[in-house]
Amino acid sequence: MEELVLETRHLKKIYNYHTDNEFEALHDINFKVYRGEFIAVMGPSGSGKSTFINNISTIDMYTSGHVYINGHEIRTMSANEIGTFRYKNLGFIFQDFNLLESHTMYENIAMPLSLAHVSRDEIDRRIRDLAEKMDIVQLLKKYPYECSGGQRQRTAICRALINNPHIIAADEPTGNLDSKNSSELMKILVRLNRENGVTIVMVTHDPLIASYSSRLIYIRDGNIESELRREGRTQDEYFQKIVEINSAESREILAE
Ligand code: ADP
Repeated sequence: MEELVLETRHLKKIYNYHTDNEFEALHDINFKVYRGEFIAVMGPSGSGKSTFINNISTIDMYTSGHVYINGHEIRTMSANEIGTFRYKNLGFIFQDFNLLESHTMYENIAMPLSLAHVSRDEIDRRIRDLAEKMDIVQLLKKYPYECSGGQRQRTAICRALINNPHIIAADEPTGNLDSKNSSELMKILVRLNRENGVTIVMVTHDPLIASYSSRLIYIRDGNIESELRREGRTQDEYFQKIVEINSAESREILAE
């Protein structure tokens, strides 16, 4: 029996709600993610991808409808409960890494545990273990500005993994990386997904990056417009299909 880890029902997000500038960015999204899936979210710029990922991962609060993570509805939690829930369940990877410049890499990685009741020794053990896997041991005392983009993103991944999350939300995680660092990051995510069973939801505009996923959703104008499963396809065949979906959608947009 597949285990549902994330579900949205009639998810709607209206920015500037109850003002003259109301803008409905997500209309009525019904979507389910099962444990161990690796979802890629694609769509044109401004279609609602970031809004979607933020609203399914506690970063932003939707206007109406429901979002359940592991059966818990986000809206019913207090700010404190959301903080604890995040620490227990979620890891985040962002395009611009979101590292604090005034903190060392070590302190940045430790950040998600700062509110949790985890001993300093345990934090230290986890950080050294992850830093070794991610090959950044020699950077732990450095500050973000002393490190390259690839090193920063590997540090950001350590931060995302420090709490052993069940779910990783990634918004354009390769957006600021060159192709070598991008493919290394994708290999890390695939390994986490396949070997550790971490469920991943990742926004990307790059069909090659999306071809590492097990399922693609294509968002347009705040709706899920189409969906594609990798199934038995090779990565290359899946990539070709993703390119086709993107160009078919682009043609439709141009024709409108
Ligand atoms: P994408 O990630 O697909 O580029 P976004 O989710 O960032 O799209 O944005 C979807 C739509 O919502 C866009 O039209 C954008 O202008 C609008 N939007 C995003 N954030 C805000 C905000 N904070 N206030 C008002 N409108 C917003």
